[in-house]
Amino acid sequence: MEHRGHCHCGAIGFVFTTAILPAEWAVRRCQCAFCTAHAALSVSDPSGTLRLTHRDPERLVRYQFALRTADFLLCSACGVYIAAVSRDGTRGIINTRTLAGSPALPDPQPMTYDGETESARLARRNERWTPIA
Ligand SMILES: [Zn+2]
Repeated sequence: MEHRGHCHCGAIGFVFTTAILPAEWAVRRCQCAFCTAHAALSVSDPSGTLRLTHRDPERLVRYQFALRTADFLLCSACGVYIAAVSRDGTRGIINTRTLAGSPALPDPQPMTYDGETESARLARRNERWTPIA
């Protein structure tokens, strides 16, 4: 099933394809300052695909912080954070807050990744994040 999401003004977006029903997604609430500031909720499926579908790519801002192992994709016009992509561009996660139609999702599980080494972080994402189509 395809799940579309986009920023508030519609300039940047994604299509997340997964065989898992939204009611069974593992929703993660990362506790880092960035995700907290955006009230972001993350979902990925290593067996699914993530395709970026920017209507106005000039508005795409890639933000990095901390270990700089991922690009957080934000809209320069409306400020919304839609998704993150690994530094090598192969895997990503979506911010479920930006999904069209606001599907009903399970309660998020709080996650803390503080203290994770860079190699542990990359290994975790290789296992858990969604391949970029
Ligand atoms: Zn926007």
